[in-house]
Amino acid sequence: MTNSTIFPQLEIPETIAAGPGPGNTDPRVLQRFASAGVADHMQPDVLRGMVECKYMLRDIMGTSNVHTFGVAGTGWSGLDVMFSAVMPGDKVVMFVNGTFSGIDGLTVRMKAATAEELAADPLDPKAASVIIVDVPHGESVSGEIVEAALAVHKPKWAAMAHWETGSGRVNDIRGFSDACQRHDVMGLVDAVSSLGVEDFRIDDFPGVQGWASCPQKGICCLPLTYAPVSFTDRYIETLRQTGCRTFVHNPILEARHWGIVDGQDVDKGTYHRTHSAYAVAAFHEALRITLQHTVAQRAKDYAFHEAALRDAVTAMGCKVTSNMTSLVVLNLPDSLAGREMELVQNCRSAGFGIWPTLSAPVQVRIGILNLLTPAAISDIVTRFATAMNELGAEIDLGDICDRLDRHYKTALAAE
Ligand SMILES: *Cc1c(COP(=O)(O)O)cnc(C)c1O
Repeated sequence: MTNSTIFPQLEIPETIAAGPGPGNTDPRVLQRFASAGVADHMQPDVLRGMVECKYMLRDIMGTSNVHTFGVAGTGWSGLDVMFSAVMPGDKVVMFVNGTFSGIDGLTVRMKAATAEELAADPLDPKAASVIIVDVPHGESVSGEIVEAALAVHKPKWAAMAHWETGSGRVNDIRGFSDACQRHDVMGLVDAVSSLGVEDFRIDDFPGVQGWASCPQKGICCLPLTYAPVSFTDRYIETLRQTGCRTFVHNPILEARHWGIVDGQDVDKGTYHRTHSAYAVAAFHEALRITLQHTVAQRAKDYAFHEAALRDAVTAMGCKVTSNMTSLVVLNLPDSLAGREMELVQNCRSAGFGIWPTLSAPVQVRIGILNLLTPAAISDIVTRFATAMNELGAEIDLGDICDRLDRHYKTALAAE
């Protein structure tokens, strides 16, 4: 291989994205992505699309926060914008119960570290002003845990993942918001895996001042588009007073391109960076699909199909330890314990994209993002049972399929 090699055209196969994310992008989204004309970032329809996205996002997030918009990039991009208001020396309490909230904790330590603390350990700074409250993998962050920590530490900020995708656990957002209000702490929430999956309105949680999500999970808009964020007036006021050390990820400046100027909606955005007409068109369609389906119906559909998948893998002898509705996190039966990675690798090499956990203990994660039909769940169940049998599990596939059929019949009759 030399520098001048021209490689063959890149072919990427169609796989079943049955992991924690990304979800299966809707064909309507890809169609809009591919049909947008070449237009620059100040062309009127591109700007109008962004303004329309802003209003649709407010609807989906359930908020009247003016500062609600999309951040170009992935979930971490939106989180970086949200955490940009955390300044060196700020006191922050972080609740960590898995891989993703762990990385949120690292982000916050990087932001809150003093120059000396950052230089002492640049990639993993130990910021004295950040208190990390560790909750064991597989457990949820409860309102009591939040209350106890905020009562003792009385920080400026507190942060938590709404749904911790690493362990598949739902954290107590009501308890978090209430405790933040009681102790006058500004709450920040990583809602990357709950937005578009769970039915909730962010304005119902007044202790939370900042929210960040992602394009690729509940919103089903992978073609690198926009991470939804929303900030209360209090967050923006705090930011106005302290400033923050980023131009591109400054929530006040970034909002301008979405037609949010001086805390007001304006009809037309002003330049912040070169947005892509393709990305805007795709994101716009993903938001339209979410609103057409409705957040409430989507949440019901996730709960309905997760219950079917959970029942089937439990019947195969697996033990489910998660309580998210877009994802099942499980331990294999004792006879296959320790072979999780081998099983996941076998599935992945057959185009069945399930995942292991990314931090200890090793478990298997099977997701159903945008796979909300009995046929899709049945395909997942069959593939997973077959992969277990290849490792010697001796599952009766006919029995499992009959059971899944019966589950759906009973569940549909009960509706
Ligand atoms: C997926 C995920 C992230 C990271 O999102 P990216 O799109 O990979 O940047 C952060 N937090 C949580 C809770 C997640 O589930």
